[in-house]
Amino acid sequence: MAAAPSEAPPARPLLASRRALVTGASSGIGLAVARGLAAAGAAVAVNYHSQAAPAEKLVAEIRAAGGQAVALGADVSDEGEVAGLVDRTVAEFGGLDVLVANSGIQKDAPVGQMSLSDWNAVLSLNLTGQFLCCREAIRAFRAQPPRERGARGSIVCMSSVHELIPWAGHVNYAAAKGGVRMMMQTLAQEMAPERVRVNAIAPGAIRTPINKEAWGTPEALERLLKLIPYGRIGEPEDVARAAAWLASDEADYVTGVTLFVDGGMALYPGFVGNG
Ligand code: NAD
Repeated sequence: MAAAPSEAPPARPLLASRRALVTGASSGIGLAVARGLAAAGAAVAVNYHSQAAPAEKLVAEIRAAGGQAVALGADVSDEGEVAGLVDRTVAEFGGLDVLVANSGIQKDAPVGQMSLSDWNAVLSLNLTGQFLCCREAIRAFRAQPPRERGARGSIVCMSSVHELIPWAGHVNYAAAKGGVRMMMQTLAQEMAPERVRVNAIAPGAIRTPINKEAWGTPEALERLLKLIPYGRIGEPEDVARAAAWLASDEADYVTGVTLFVDGGMALYPGFVGNG
């Protein structure tokens, strides 16, 4: 009689025993990423700025499913608040392994009408805010003993297809995301010898509050779909799955890259049919 096939051991969750901080996690992509990292086994600090309620709700959902999470308010464009945010995450979980620097805003205007304060607001959060979060996370990674295998820490910066595609009427946003790309690559180069991985995700058009005018009506959605070869708008969960993989040891040899999660938006769809 043939021996019964032995049962395969259950797969270890992608982020088991990892401790993560996700900024801007009270809505949109950040919320889906925080939920996704928790589902992959990570303890997650859910940062919010002005909206505590959705962050608290997500924390309750994660805890009810047996996970570990905490909601932490902070303005990530403020140096002192970022330091406090990372400190509180470390105090809560005993360390930090993963940062997803996600918070971002848009304040759009044609260049002639763009105020200095709107330029500064977007650069302060979308670029300087990510720098501050990366720096504090790196300080926390360094304070921990290195792991036997795998990265000592992993950072995922939320960039955009507009780190590559110029965007008329959004010069502050495109300049910030272009800056994120070079900041990410420079930090990846600087930190690789210390086994810290730094990567980015460049979402295309994802259905969130930040770009509701681009998908909120059938006409707007039809216009938008012309820019997306894959033929559908992205969902926050598309980005969350990519973030969980990029943050995990499955991506251990990956550093300094931008992973485009955009249904082909960055493939110059205007050139289909010879342009
Ligand atoms: P969103 O408006 O739902 O999320 C933005 C988040 O940033 C919110 O949770 C908000 O509370 C937080 N935030 C704002 N100011 C903050 C501050 N001072 N401190 C801390 N947090 C702050 O929009 P989203 O689409 O989920 O955007 C998330 C990220 O994804 C942004 O960096 C955005 O540039 C990027 N992105 C989005 C798209 C898209 O199509 N939705 C495309 C490319 C890139």
